[in-house]
Amino acid sequence: MRRRDLLKNLSLLPVAGAAGAFISTDAAAAPVPAVKRDLFKELGVRTFINAAGTYTFMTGSLMREEVVEAIRSATHDFCLLDELQDKVGAKIATMVHAESAVITSGCFSALTLGLAGVLTGMDQTKVEQLPHLAGTGMKSEVIIQKGHSIGYSHALTNTGCTIVTVETISDVEKAISDKTALLWFLNVQSDKGLINHEQWVALGKKYKIPTMIDIAADVPPVENLWKFNDMGFDLVCVSGGKAMRGPQSTGILMGKKELIAAARLSMPPRGTTIGRGMKVNKEEVLGMYVALEHFVNADHEKEWKEWEGRVATIQTAIKNIPGLTTEVKVPTLGNVTPTLHVTWDKTKLKLTTKDLQEKLRNGSPSIEIVNGGDEHISITTWVMLPGQERIVAKRLSEELAAATA
Ligand SMILES: *Cc1c(COP(=O)(O)O)cnc(C)c1O
Repeated sequence: MRRRDLLKNLSLLPVAGAAGAFISTDAAAAPVPAVKRDLFKELGVRTFINAAGTYTFMTGSLMREEVVEAIRSATHDFCLLDELQDKVGAKIATMVHAESAVITSGCFSALTLGLAGVLTGMDQTKVEQLPHLAGTGMKSEVIIQKGHSIGYSHALTNTGCTIVTVETISDVEKAISDKTALLWFLNVQSDKGLINHEQWVALGKKYKIPTMIDIAADVPPVENLWKFNDMGFDLVCVSGGKAMRGPQSTGILMGKKELIAAARLSMPPRGTTIGRGMKVNKEEVLGMYVALEHFVNADHEKEWKEWEGRVATIQTAIKNIPGLTTEVKVPTLGNVTPTLHVTWDKTKLKLTTKDLQEKLRNGSPSIEIVNGGDEHISITTWVMLPGQERIVAKRLSEELAAATA
């Protein structure tokens, strides 16, 4: 069906509030543009300027236009999900220096499915036995550093495995047994453990146990996409819907060919698996592919300068308020982006960080910032649309100025 016919047919549907939904223009040549439904408005869902960052509860990031276009273009045809994953996976593998790759439903699923692959290998019986490991001959333990144990390891226990925490290299060597399935590393906490990346990989190689790293929120820098594959991690897991601005529900599992092949036995379209609910549709697969392609080829220096420029706009608007201190910091691990920290003297500005957060949230337009406890608020500009920094600067200075009065 051609687009115009589609629109014509759609206009016959009894959609609530559809009156006048299709504007006729006098230019017969141009396709008739539809008045877009604003579903957030219809449903009364609050939307906001995101000055906080790539948080799942705030719906992560905004997909690039190219991603939306990829999704739209994919809706016209059917294909075999496996064939699509094969072809996209091969392209991605080349981009990230891995033997193989597959699009998963978020980094979290990549962790679960990657471990599932380690446990089952290509044994279909074992695939169906997960997550019940007892009496199956499958391994059942994952070793992680104490400082890396911050909750995401639930993705690993979903397979039926238990977590063994360690601190030193000698702890690891003592903990390794014939039950050990995986050595897991969480990049964002790498400064909270005594064992570094290279040592972790070396332990895996020495004891012939696969290593996996979670780098969910660790791009940028873009090099992290291949750094850990090059380093020798057997499996690398990343989020697609954070800084890469792919679909929020996607991630990538990359690494050794035989492990990815085994992981895919627990993935849709196959049922009777722990991963059947972790479906990614063809649109998401292609959307993520295009997002990654764009991200790998992007001018990251230029993008960084844009983020910095926006931060500077906000900083300049508020920095002379008496009693207020601003500082731009860049986290060294995770969410690596210019981040404006704002603190103030509570005797000069009668405002708590929570008050400020609420005022911005309840203002118009609504704005979300990060409340860093009683001491400071923080602001990032990387998921904003261009120009929104000026609105944030204005609203912030209004509320802060009001509190000095
Ligand atoms: C966001 C995040 C995840 C989960 O990633 P999704 O893509 O949302 O599934 C896992 N680990 C860490 C460290 C994260 O920051």
